[in-house]
Amino acid sequence: MGILEENERLEGLDKKYIWHPFTQMKEWIEDKPIIIAEGRDCFLKDIYGRWYLDGVSSLWVNVYGHRKKEIDDAIKEQIDNIAHSTLLGLSNVPAIRLAEKLIQIVQKAFQLPLHPPLTKGGTKGGEINPPLPPFSKGGIYGFEKGGSGGGINSSLVTRHSSLAKVFYSDDGSTSVEVALKMAFQYWKHKGVSGKNTFVCLNNAYHGDTIGAVSVGGIDIFHKAFEPLLFKTCRAPSPYCYRCELGNSYPDCEFACLDKLEEIFRAHLNEIAAMIIEPMIQAAGGMITSPPGYLRGVRALCNQYGILMIADEVATGFGRTGRMFACEYEGVMPDILCLSKGITGGYLPLAVTLATDEIYSAFLGEFRDLKTFFHGHSYTGNPLACAAAVACLDLFEKENVLENLKGKTEILDKWLKQILSLKHVGDVRNIGLMAGVELVKDKETKEPYDWAEKIGWRVAYHARDKGVIIRPLGNIAVIMPPLSISGQNLNQLLKVIKEAIVSATKEN
Ligand code: PMP
Repeated sequence: MGILEENERLEGLDKKYIWHPFTQMKEWIEDKPIIIAEGRDCFLKDIYGRWYLDGVSSLWVNVYGHRKKEIDDAIKEQIDNIAHSTLLGLSNVPAIRLAEKLIQIVQKAFQLPLHPPLTKGGTKGGEINPPLPPFSKGGIYGFEKGGSGGGINSSLVTRHSSLAKVFYSDDGSTSVEVALKMAFQYWKHKGVSGKNTFVCLNNAYHGDTIGAVSVGGIDIFHKAFEPLLFKTCRAPSPYCYRCELGNSYPDCEFACLDKLEEIFRAHLNEIAAMIIEPMIQAAGGMITSPPGYLRGVRALCNQYGILMIADEVATGFGRTGRMFACEYEGVMPDILCLSKGITGGYLPLAVTLATDEIYSAFLGEFRDLKTFFHGHSYTGNPLACAAAVACLDLFEKENVLENLKGKTEILDKWLKQILSLKHVGDVRNIGLMAGVELVKDKETKEPYDWAEKIGWRVAYHARDKGVIIRPLGNIAVIMPPLSISGQNLNQLLKVIKEAIVSATKEN
């Protein structure tokens, strides 16, 4: 069979057998699919030999590009030992090495002592954090009107038991499921009953499993499943471009945090934890929160004794320019969810990190049933852990975070130009995570109707010019591998700008 026939056969088989995620299959089968056969550096090659720039890091996971030698080698080396064995009742070498490395990285990022002393006898139920001074925006948020949000008294936001334990799972959604179950059961073990709900934000996205959907806040994705979901309290999204409270930043003086506090007060005895995507609500539309917001959330969690879960599945591992987005505001969560970039985009793996305080609550006699009854078949998979160790080693060796600064400047420069386009209402980015909000009318901020597929039209134009991007509704998303060269980044942004111009002209 010739190459062309084989390619057509593959296209036919794809349409015949595969149900693609987040994809209207009626449209898919009418279209010609791009089938990827190979990858190299920041590029993907399809079965016809066409190369594309990977502008979304293969769904926000890729860090060093494709076929990174060190990660390839680590997986090959591990496969010669063992591909998989379970973490239930056994351990494995790469999982142990990775756990040590993760704790070192987290401790460094949050500048914590490596082995903080546990408070004798733990803390009393409902009081995991020491009492804080009375709530006051100036003091606790450390936000001066018009300022950059500096000046927080960091002792207010880091006075916790350290993140010290690693619980493995398989992907972002499972890391969130683990976090929710951990937080819920923590209170039970502390003898505090009734904490059966969570606070989450409008526009939040934490994954597609039912627990993660329950704490989600994107109606288009989540509303259909409403009858299946557990009860949550939803607070306003810190979406300044379209403030749901009708305010504008910074004159609002964080009215959204006041609303959050109202929820905390009203449901204090029911709330197990608050879950948040720190600094940027990614799938909700690359919604960056204003400086001081995250610290405000942490301060309120401290004040009301509510656990804070940071979902850094998308933001973790350098994507925002820091190892973790929480670092921007000197905030340490009680539970941290990580996945995506952890293996450099090679293999599915996730971790949920918990503080000593939380972990300790699960200790007891066998018969006490305090065990955390959760675990998946592939939890702590040795191949994935070996890839992750290699990936994390490279962060230091290749000075990844330092090298990002120049790239972020390139991105900023292009985003400024893109903002001047007629149908661009807002541009938002932190590090190499960026979103361009396309609007029908710039003056009134009138959005494009979802059905107009404006984001997709931009993506199709970009595709014609050799760039793969994937939008979020009316938001064009830019999220290249962290290793992208300045030249390729300029090329990517040039194509995206042209694609926006072409797609928005079609109206
Ligand atoms: N949390 C966040 C913040 C995410 O962005 C995502 C995925 N985009 C998830 C959780 C879910 O991760 P996964 O798709 O690996 O289940």
